[in-house]
Amino acid sequence: MLASEVISRLRGIYPPAFFERINDPFYVLVSTVLSQRTRDNVTIPATEKLFSVYGSPQAIAAADPEDIEKLIKDVGFHRVKAGRIIEISRILLEEYEGKVPDNIDDLLKLPGVGRKTANCVLTYAFRKDAIAVDTHVHRISNRLGLVTTNTPEETESGLEHVVPRQLWQYVNELLVRFGQDVCRPISPKCDVCLLADLCPSRVIRITE
Ligand code: SF4
Repeated sequence: MLASEVISRLRGIYPPAFFERINDPFYVLVSTVLSQRTRDNVTIPATEKLFSVYGSPQAIAAADPEDIEKLIKDVGFHRVKAGRIIEISRILLEEYEGKVPDNIDDLLKLPGVGRKTANCVLTYAFRKDAIAVDTHVHRISNRLGLVTTNTPEETESGLEHVVPRQLWQYVNELLVRFGQDVCRPISPKCDVCLLADLCPSRVIRITE
């Protein structure tokens, strides 16, 4: 099966991800909100900086928004995101006893949390079977012919049909890394790709 082979080969080259070392669902939720439209090399230090000062929903809910903004100033849309994580913290305290919910319906009710973020939390914080589709997952799944879709939502649903359930939790991590390293949005490195023999989109360069 194509999807299983893709996951199997990628697991062979990528070691466990950063998030696998994190057991705190609140950390994963905040980090994923901060990561929206922001690169990992900016998101991770900003999250670490924030949590070195404000490490709980109680602390963030009571914080001065300007302090939060300063700590996360390097991430895109930092003012909007500061407001969101304060609001999320307040909702968690008021409605969820300060805990991050472990189901998609409740996660989607939180401000700034869409399907990708909710599925990242389910995958990385709770190790539940979920497929978080970002631009890398959407692009690569279509290039490989795992799905033929126009939107991340369609891709999520399509992948759920072709990827065995026990492998769902690996899809985001592996395809994001692969998309950053090899199957990039522009000029994918098909010459060195370990999936080239499976891929209908491979670009063959003619050299003289
Ligand atoms: S062969 Fe090229 S397009 Fe296909 S998965 Fe590899 S890098 Fe991406």
